[in-house]
Amino acid sequence: MIQAVERPKSDRATHCVAEQYEELYARSINDPNGFWLDQAQRLDWHTAPTKGGDWSFDPAKIEWFADGALNLCHNAVDRHLETRGNDTAIIFEPDDPETPGRTLTYRELHGEVIRMANALKALGVTKGDRVTLYMPMIVEGVTAMLACARLGAIHSVVFGGFSPEALAGRIEDCGSRFVITADTGLRGAKVVPLKANVDAALRIEGADVDGVLVVKHTGANVSMTDGRDQWFDDLASDEDCPCEVMAAEDPLFILYTSGSTGKPKGVLHTTGGYGVWTATTFNYVFDYQPGEVYWCTADIGWVTGHSYIVYGPLMNGATSLVFEGVPNYPDHGRFWDVVDKHQVNILYTAPTAIRALMREGDEFVTSRDRSSLRLLGSVGEPINPEAWRWYFDVVGEGRCPIVDTWWQTETGGVMITTLPAAHDMKPGSAGLPFFGIQPQLVDNDGGVLEGAIDGNLCITASWPGQARSVYGDHERFEQTYFSTYKGKYFTGDGCKRDEDGYYWITGRVDDVINVSGHRMGTAEVESALVLHDKVAEAAVVGYPHDIKGQGIYCYVTLNAGEEGSDELYKELRTHVRKEIGPIASPDYIQFTDGLPKTRSGKIMRRILRKVAENDYGSLGDTSTLADPSLVERLIDGRQNR
Ligand code: ATP
Ligand code: MG
Repeated sequence: MIQAVERPKSDRATHCVAEQYEELYARSINDPNGFWLDQAQRLDWHTAPTKGGDWSFDPAKIEWFADGALNLCHNAVDRHLETRGNDTAIIFEPDDPETPGRTLTYRELHGEVIRMANALKALGVTKGDRVTLYMPMIVEGVTAMLACARLGAIHSVVFGGFSPEALAGRIEDCGSRFVITADTGLRGAKVVPLKANVDAALRIEGADVDGVLVVKHTGANVSMTDGRDQWFDDLASDEDCPCEVMAAEDPLFILYTSGSTGKPKGVLHTTGGYGVWTATTFNYVFDYQPGEVYWCTADIGWVTGHSYIVYGPLMNGATSLVFEGVPNYPDHGRFWDVVDKHQVNILYTAPTAIRALMREGDEFVTSRDRSSLRLLGSVGEPINPEAWRWYFDVVGEGRCPIVDTWWQTETGGVMITTLPAAHDMKPGSAGLPFFGIQPQLVDNDGGVLEGAIDGNLCITASWPGQARSVYGDHERFEQTYFSTYKGKYFTGDGCKRDEDGYYWITGRVDDVINVSGHRMGTAEVESALVLHDKVAEAAVVGYPHDIKGQGIYCYVTLNAGEEGSDELYKELRTHVRKEIGPIASPDYIQFTDGLPKTRSGKIMRRILRKVAENDYGSLGDTSTLADPSLVERLIDGRQNR
């Protein structure tokens, strides 16, 4: 049993202490419409809503604030001009620390958004059009999203690391007629040929568009197609460009999920509910106070970037740091250099980055000051307790609370987390439901499970930030989320609830393994492996086993300088038996130089399962893998043993 870690106390102002959480949570459940109509007042509405939620999960039809009208660009930018026009909205930190960055006040951000919106208008974009963004992490990535929202166009941001094929598929799927990109991008001094990739994508059948807007970023030479491609600077202008009035249920964006479980889905979010959800969660989860510098290291190509680099922070008038680079360039201390340089107070990052930095030792961290840090956040995967401890003790020096936020592209914003001034933390547990969220654990037949228990995580009632559909395929939306357990939203995640009501995500339900009748979350075995001081990262899957039904197959990467050996193999088996018990003893350990990850850094266990099963014929969609060549190496490693 993992002990709770007391939340570090401070006397700063806070939005929510323990008693307030209890009170607000109770009201959010007993009177959801009243509660959310109150929260909706965080935003500036053209027509204030009088209706709260109007929804059903069978069949799936979800609406919030349906009679309200607003514009989220107005809420993120324009409405701050009067009160905080001279406050910093965005700090841009480039890939190369020697290159000058940029700082934009809300007034300057407003000017840039207007320029971008006018350029889009000149390109032919109108309300309701889908616009694909394929951008580096630069200011124009943010202004392009906001400009779309301003005009009522639906943005679909595709992560700049995706291949032309993946980009083409996403352009075609949503029928996008416009692309916004840049000449080239930079990540860890490597050039990303964005415009060339767009050209290649648009040569693929089905993916032709009417207009491509190109932002000059690095100044690299790129080819421009007459009549289709336009430089942003040529079309930009400062003319007045008012915000379109949008109905609350008008679409805001489409975003394709990371693809760790199958073909990416074009998740559709609408305006009012998403706006209220991201504004409210940002306020409470990060306990943001004016003047603080907030940094989320995600990319705008993921939902975390949408909700917690762009919409959530800016709607709250916060200072949001936009980072073009990567954690290990110029060296593994870059995160902490950025923290010191910009006096970052709140850092929100992912377990994959935390583990990668931890692997390189403490020196990169402790050699930097970091005294500005006040709060740390984690998102994307379960964080194993070992990495949590390192984040807490070494990075935050035991001074900064950690919020481990569980949520999904489909949920729009944070669903389960502790609140920094309200709750003690448990390393590896996301914590407690956010306001309005009613988690439920069910068995495989849908039977409701009470008390401290392990099960499949469902949500029983809608919340404003919930996705409304899969773009162009409502059937798939129903099928994926509402058909497994009738009348409930099924998250696809396995989860354990403890006696204090804390939730522990155990991984995707598909990843739960059944060894001789014992159900086990792969996350648990992985956490045990990572505890070993030579292990950097581990991924565990089940594979068919004659006697046990399923055996435990472990992929292990080692810390810098370590090498796999028969001795270490035995040592690790003993180690896991000791940590969890003989039932969790690994049946097979494969040492590997890397794990297959999606471009957002999540381990793709689906592929690892296939390799473990010796079934290479049907690896499925691998287009979202960060390093496709790794699959070959994994197969070789499997066969060599
Ligand atoms: P796809 O749906 O295409 O397979 P994906 O699920 O990886 O992709 P996201 O929506 O980015 O796409 O990720 C949501 C998932 O990430 C959750 O369902 C959960 O499995 C995992 N996750 C996110 N945050 C946490 C967290 N704090 N703790 C545990 N798991 C998390
Ligand atoms: Mg998912």
